[in-house]
Amino acid sequence: MSDSPLTFNDFGLAEPIVRAVTELGYREPTPIQEQAIPVVMSGKDVMGAAQTGTGKTAGFALPIIHRLLPLASSSTSPARHPVRALMLAPTRELADQIYQNVKEYARHTPLRTAVVFGGVDMKPQTMALRQGCEILIATPGRLLDHVEQKSTNLSQVQILVLDEADRMLDMGFLPDIQRIINMLGKDRQSLMFSATFSNEIRKLAESFLDSPLLIEVARRNALAENITQTVYRVASPEHKRAAVAKLVRDHAFAQVIVFSNTKIGAGRLARQLEVDGLNAAAIHGDKSQQERLKTLEDFKQGLITVLVATDVAARGLDIAELPAVINYDLPYSPEDYVHRIGRTGRAGASGMALSLITGSNDDRLLADIEKLTKRKFAVEDMAVDATLPGHRREARAPRDEDRPERVERYRDDTRPSRARSFSPAPSRPAEDPFFSRPYEPSTEALAEQAESVQSKAPLPVVRRSTRPVPALLGGFKRT
Ligand code: AMP
Repeated sequence: MSDSPLTFNDFGLAEPIVRAVTELGYREPTPIQEQAIPVVMSGKDVMGAAQTGTGKTAGFALPIIHRLLPLASSSTSPARHPVRALMLAPTRELADQIYQNVKEYARHTPLRTAVVFGGVDMKPQTMALRQGCEILIATPGRLLDHVEQKSTNLSQVQILVLDEADRMLDMGFLPDIQRIINMLGKDRQSLMFSATFSNEIRKLAESFLDSPLLIEVARRNALAENITQTVYRVASPEHKRAAVAKLVRDHAFAQVIVFSNTKIGAGRLARQLEVDGLNAAAIHGDKSQQERLKTLEDFKQGLITVLVATDVAARGLDIAELPAVINYDLPYSPEDYVHRIGRTGRAGASGMALSLITGSNDDRLLADIEKLTKRKFAVEDMAVDATLPGHRREARAPRDEDRPERVERYRDDTRPSRARSFSPAPSRPAEDPFFSRPYEPSTEALAEQAESVQSKAPLPVVRRSTRPVPALLGGFKRT
């Protein structure tokens, strides 16, 4: 095994693919790419434990493009561009992110890429499908609509990717996924990625993967050791808003995501923080697609300090390396706690996860989190002045409308009549202060990686523990 760093040339990927990633500024593969690329190139099924922000998309997309290249056609006839690789994602945002990436990776090849997701007009998508595309990225509900309308045909799909499979199950997509799988040929390569491994996920994996190789870049349901986790008890729910403002100020966080369990709560908290003089915005399922993309872009550009988000809205965001997250509400599902705090302290960088609790309901939620994460939290009392200016303006007793965000609101909207106009996501922003921070895998993560790849095929994997690899968010500025 050589000590020199692995490069994208070392995998034997086709030249146009290596050229595309080089142009994107990717200098070295990330740990998941080191593991996944050779396995996917060899045609094996994969079960991958990796979250957004690890470079997972290129980990599966580059070898898929490589495998499809011999079948690529420069003919303009749609019939010469059947769907050969299908990538399913739970949310519009994630589908669009994958699409933006795949389009870039395949830009020097004749392969065509398209994306379909709900909540927007079907017509432009139908036109794109009718022109033919070898790589199709889709949310399940909208894909089924297009299949029913015969805008596309999945019988020639040879490679299937299920991304964020755990979230797809949470969102009730299992029946849709099963219908889609039934439309594909039996002789295909399948890849499944999930941030957590519940029994349901294992069952799904058993049902449609064939002797998959397990690829992991983080411990199952693990919490990174480099994340400082603190729980604060405040006097009442009304004190939580003042507590968030105090935490952001006391720690002088450059940026932070604050999690709220309700859409109304998220919107109200963002307004409240603005009144308190913080630069805040909310992102949740009641905002239009355009608003959400705009808010996200502003956050990535550093124009927003505090992003108040619901779990569903935050899920697809390509934001991995934050200095801190704050749980304004503890999540109802303890696994969401793991997802939330995994947004900070990535890959060796230190991060903070601060949670606010009040009352016995929160104690129960905290106990569930302690059980899942197998750790006991020390709870600190936090005294805040609940008469901050923002609090005075917005304080009121909770109402019935403060209900949790219903996942259905965010699912594919399969009715075209509810279509909204859609602007594609703006191109990748230029470098910004923390999205461009160097990425350094921890030695522990690499050791775990080494244990968990149960590869039967020899993998040209080179393990390094100290070399920084490029930041995972936004990659490098293109020059
Ligand atoms: P993903 O986890 O696939 O959503 O990727 C997160 C971000 O990392 C995306 O903005 C990618 O463009 C970027 N990225 C992926 N692989 C690399 C790499 N090897 N070097 C630098 N940036 C990368």
